[in-house]
Amino acid sequence: MTQVFINGARDELNVQEHDSLDPSVQELIRAAAEARKQAYCPYSNFSVGAALRTSDGSIYTGCNIENGAYAASICAERTAAVKAISEGKRDFVACAVVAQQDNGFTTPCGVCRQFLSEFVNGKDIPLYAAQPSNLPLRVLCTSVLQLLPNGFRFLNGK
Ligand SMILES: [Zn+2]
Repeated sequence: MTQVFINGARDELNVQEHDSLDPSVQELIRAAAEARKQAYCPYSNFSVGAALRTSDGSIYTGCNIENGAYAASICAERTAAVKAISEGKRDFVACAVVAQQDNGFTTPCGVCRQFLSEFVNGKDIPLYAAQPSNLPLRVLCTSVLQLLPNGFRFLNGK
């Protein structure tokens, strides 16, 4: 078995068999994998899908959307988050990210970690990073605050 080390994760500790996860988590990962199919990434050819579950059980999905002016691109995680927030849903309870890299898991970039951390409201949320294939499917189980300890918070007036 290949040992996977990423963000402090170790096999059998932070990396779990997909089939052993709660069905609601499997559903979230499937939603992220489905959203990944809509990725617009002609420049990187790197498709990413994300899904966020809100406290009412809803799932909001997103894909990465690139732009010829690279800086105008947006990641899958932020696409999912802005969809949810713009519809009045900002109480996130879980996040899934799906992308394909041969030797590990794809976790959110620094900007997305900061973006998501704004909405965990001090309680943190689990984050599942999975690949769309590579059976048997394995999943990195981490959390937003594990990925961004001591992230920036605007404290003035709060
Ligand atoms: Zn990102």
